[in-house]
Amino acid sequence: MIGVDRFIERVNGEFPGDRVTYQKSLPTFHPQSGDEAARLFGLATEMKQQLYITGFGNNISPEGEKFKDLVVIRTDRLNQLVRVMPEDFYVVAGAGYPLKELNLRLKKHNLFFPHADLPYVGSVGGALATGLTADYGGHDLPISRYFIMAEIGLPGGKLIKPGSACFKSVSGFDIVKIFSPSWGLLGLIVTACLRVLPTSLAEDYAGLKMQSIEYEQFVDLFQNPGDNVSAQYSLKIKSKFDPQNNLPLIDIFH
Ligand SMILES: Cc1cc2nc3c(=O)[nH]c(=O)nc-3n(C[C@H](O)[C@H](O)[C@H](O)COP(=O)(O)OP(=O)(O)OC[C@H]3O[C@@H](n4cnc5c(N)ncnc54)[C@H](O)[C@@H]3O)c2cc1C
Repeated sequence: MIGVDRFIERVNGEFPGDRVTYQKSLPTFHPQSGDEAARLFGLATEMKQQLYITGFGNNISPEGEKFKDLVVIRTDRLNQLVRVMPEDFYVVAGAGYPLKELNLRLKKHNLFFPHADLPYVGSVGGALATGLTADYGGHDLPISRYFIMAEIGLPGGKLIKPGSACFKSVSGFDIVKIFSPSWGLLGLIVTACLRVLPTSLAEDYAGLKMQSIEYEQFVDLFQNPGDNVSAQYSLKIKSKFDPQNNLPLIDIFH
């Protein structure tokens, strides 16, 4: 029996039978909670099984030769809008919740989320992981600006909850920001807590334009950081969070 089959046999023994499906012939695990995601990461570390995280997967669709030894974790069952807190101006959404639906749900609370009206057809987790960025009157407005707290399953099997829903929380480095963008290489964003705004401000954000998503550039820098300081830091962070490389970079371009 090869490695992936042994891993899936173990997963099927430890989780309810419907968690693994085969999509485009790849074994795909569908966690239904942060605990399940963390347990899968723990097992993957123990059995040295590499994983690939996907949301809607429209752009990087896990299929073909480059994914053949990987097990996919798909966020499609983490698709709830968990909490809307109008008085505190935040929402908590599952990673698999469609970003575009956010403003439909927020409208009745007189709230909105600026990036939800961009033409990004993907999940909340995917938008954060790709670092979705808008052009705001000539300035960059990354989605991470509103990413204040999360539940994250880490390679190794820990579930962490970095960040805070308070208006002012940290004086030092805000760990939650490391995950946007992170391209699925540092861990699984299980739920995301996003700061939302009152609709009285919506007019200010009416002209937001989506910027292109620069995965190829990221892949190139990851493989050849050269003297790019921010790429060097990203690689250091990767080696701390994922020392066993359970979440490998998949170069879909070369
Ligand atoms: C390389 C690339 C280029 C794109 N270019 C465009 C474009 O030019 N125009 C456009 O309109 N749209 C673009 N998109 C967005 C795309 O069309 C889809 O909207 C998107 O792929 C839909 O799926 P998703 O948001 O669930 O993310 P996915 O495609 O499933 O995943 C994107 C990335 O995020 C990671 N990821 C996903 N969910 C999580 C999570 N919960 N935790 C941690 N990591 C996660 C994945 O590993 C992957 O690296 C692009 C997306 C990608 C990935």
